[in-house]
Amino acid sequence: MPIATVNNPQVNDPGIDQQVLAERVNLLFAGARGLSFFSLLLAALIASVFYLQGRDLMPVYWAAALFTVLVVYLLLNSGFQRKQLFADAGPTWLRRFRVATLLQGLAWGAGAVLLFGAGNEFHQLLLGFSLFGGCALALSPLSHDTKSYLALVLPVFAGVMSGIVLTGGEYLPLALLSTLGLLVPLLVLARREERESIAALRARFAYAEMAEEFDQEVTTRLRAEDSLLKGEQRGQRQSYALLELAREEAIISGDIPRALTVITEKAAKAIECNRVSVWLCDEDFNEFRCAHVFDKGYHDEDPSHRVLTGPHAHHYRRIEKSRTIAISDTRRDRRLLDFWETYIAPFRTGAILAAPFRYNGKVSGLIVHEHIGRSRNWILDERMFASSLADFVALTLSAAGRQQVQEQLRHLANFDRLTGLPNRVMFHDRLVHALKKAERFDRKIALLFVDLDRFKSINDSLGHQMGDRVLRRTAKRLVRCVRGCDTVTRLGGDEFTVILEEIEDTQTVITVAERIIETLGDPLYLDDYDLHLTASIGIAMFPEDGKDAETLLQNADTAMYRSKKDGRNRLQFFTEDMHDQALEKLDREREIRHAIENEEFELYFQPQLDLRTGRNVGFEALVRWNHPERGFVMPGEFIALAEESGLIARLGEWVMREGCRQAKSWYDEFGDDFHIAVNLSAAQFIAQSIPDLVADALKESGLPPELLLLEITESLAVGEGVETLRLLQDLKKLGCRLALDDFGTGSSSLSYLKSFPVDIIKIDRSFVSDLNGDAHDAAIARATIGLAQSLGLDVIAEGVETQQQLDWLLGEGCGIVQGFLFSEPLAAEACWSWLDNPQRMPPLEARLVAATGSNRPN
Ligand code: C2E
Ligand code: MG
Ligand code: MG
Repeated sequence: MPIATVNNPQVNDPGIDQQVLAERVNLLFAGARGLSFFSLLLAALIASVFYLQGRDLMPVYWAAALFTVLVVYLLLNSGFQRKQLFADAGPTWLRRFRVATLLQGLAWGAGAVLLFGAGNEFHQLLLGFSLFGGCALALSPLSHDTKSYLALVLPVFAGVMSGIVLTGGEYLPLALLSTLGLLVPLLVLARREERESIAALRARFAYAEMAEEFDQEVTTRLRAEDSLLKGEQRGQRQSYALLELAREEAIISGDIPRALTVITEKAAKAIECNRVSVWLCDEDFNEFRCAHVFDKGYHDEDPSHRVLTGPHAHHYRRIEKSRTIAISDTRRDRRLLDFWETYIAPFRTGAILAAPFRYNGKVSGLIVHEHIGRSRNWILDERMFASSLADFVALTLSAAGRQQVQEQLRHLANFDRLTGLPNRVMFHDRLVHALKKAERFDRKIALLFVDLDRFKSINDSLGHQMGDRVLRRTAKRLVRCVRGCDTVTRLGGDEFTVILEEIEDTQTVITVAERIIETLGDPLYLDDYDLHLTASIGIAMFPEDGKDAETLLQNADTAMYRSKKDGRNRLQFFTEDMHDQALEKLDREREIRHAIENEEFELYFQPQLDLRTGRNVGFEALVRWNHPERGFVMPGEFIALAEESGLIARLGEWVMREGCRQAKSWYDEFGDDFHIAVNLSAAQFIAQSIPDLVADALKESGLPPELLLLEITESLAVGEGVETLRLLQDLKKLGCRLALDDFGTGSSSLSYLKSFPVDIIKIDRSFVSDLNGDAHDAAIARATIGLAQSLGLDVIAEGVETQQQLDWLLGEGCGIVQGFLFSEPLAAEACWSWLDNPQRMPPLEARLVAATGSNRPN
């Protein structure tokens, strides 16, 4: 059909008339072709009959004219047939059709007028019958439009009647009457045909509509049944899925990766979506991190690269209140604007069904079902299912949380965090267990106490991070040196123990210990450092050196100390005399602790004098132990032990506070700007935050910070440890000054002087004491003074006992001196009189004049 008609116009749609009209035009054009050919034949026949009868060309011309009209008629028809038209083209083409038909009718009518008079009666009858017959036959193809029929028939009849009238004759009235009698029924018939045609067409379209409606109804019903069936199946699938999840071991046990695998797989199947992912969010709801993705049949358990950051906190309230968030079209949901660029568009997510899960009462993430590509509606049971899945994720998390906490507690309680080795608690359990076993089966056990040599200097110089790495590597190396059944533990710091069970003889123990020493002695390459470590090992045997865990450990420790004392990097078996010494040491440690509590310590102050001015520039605070039985005990006898036992922290703190307090009282009295020098041991830096302590002591005493001089030793300043440097800079920031004590006795490199922020170098007593006898010592002292001067630092020479030493130092331009020549360390009260009594100064002045040959400098 050239005019396309619609088979299912809407109910009561006025378009139905248009459809009917269009269809009538289609039928008219379809029938017109046959009519044209019939016309052509008839005209040819009539023209030839009339031509043969009179040999007149007029019938031929008429036929030619009719042919022309028919050609136009056929061209219009083929034009119509070739075009793709719509229903609204109906009226136009109907008009064209009527005009073309009218032309044809006129041609025929003209023919009737012209030819009627040209023939005899026979010809007239033939013409009349042919025309009336043709008109009757045209009724069928033109029955769909009465006006078209009239356009053809009326001119023909008019032509015939005109012809009859023109020719006249006695039968004229009868002829006219019969012509009209023929025309009227034809017209009535045409009108009825048209009505029937229209009615039939209307019925067809109405039926089509009904059929469509009916068809739709059936389809809807079938669909509904189908969806019910599908829904039922889906419901069943979902229930089964939930049932299976409830029994899932991974969820119950809190095995997160496994549980997420199962949950996402079930979700994808039951909800029929392309991608299911589980997202965890941070406390502030600003970062979403993907924990698991199940995408088109593949699991990605580590999609950590999928992170959505940004201020998402405003989503929290909505998500927090909802069981599910169903978005059927991601392009139309403003809530997703934040995620559009980063996720929705690149992953082609068309629809989303998300369900939040909670942990500890707070939303901690979402399980997200994604439909890829187009939009999709989420039905209620899918939303409910998604929400149940979220509950299962929450369940897994809380189960994992419990498990993890338990596991963590167990691990924290028994294992060392740094190295992963069993810790002291676990060590004790294992040793007790091993001892019981050994006792029952009459076996030997060896306990090795392994301590790294000079580990503190690594920590101090290269920083704690490097120290930690050294410890981790040491732990690994130790484990490699022993059998699987032996226990290696870290007690703390750089102390490790090894329990060797089922020992045959001592030689086995020696072999293992030597292997450890050798292995730990291998160079350790860490970053750019090539570290050479050594270890000292103390060994205690069961049952000889102790029957219980505590004694064995104590004795192995004692043996280790002996091996350190004897030169390090060696092994040492425990012996009885060590036991006595260890006991003594323990006693003294206890005593020191007791002394701190009982305030048996006292501060003495040794003056420091500026050779250039002859004035007292400061005091060094030196601690003494006022022992109730042994009397005065000098620091040389207890400082090292205090450092070893860690008691130096408490002792040092007291010295710091007391020194500052005392200095402040002198400052208040004399208003002079002499400093107080306080010694700090390297061990103190490990045990406590020295900057905090100093800040506190300064605040508490009110002493101006520039009057506090902190004496640190080279052992602290060794290396370029970032940590040490930071600490020293912190101290400098507080406003105090730093002095490098005992310079030249340690292993410091001169370059450290450049990197560390020291103000003063103290030449050690050992160099000063031999200034006049030992050329080397003198050279070192001279170099130190020169170095300090070139670096713009001050120098204090300590231990000045003789006039010669002083003269030498004066000659070399040494700035400050301290020593028995001027004063021994003084008790606090003695300092008052020292400061009160400036008569003590003249001898110095006299010496100055004598040595330099000049007057006292200003
Ligand atoms: P140091 O810091 O080098 O202190 C100087 C030591 O040399 C003091 O010994 C002092 O009495 C002594 N001395 C000063 N002038 C002379 C002299 O002309 N001749 C002789 N023979 N000795 C002289 P002391 O008081 O026995 O202190 C020894 C070390 O103990 C100190 O060496 C210091 O390293 C340490 N020390 C003392 N008090 C403390 C303290 O409060 N904390 C810390 N961490 N260490 C302290
Ligand atoms: Mg000192
Ligand atoms: Mg010193």
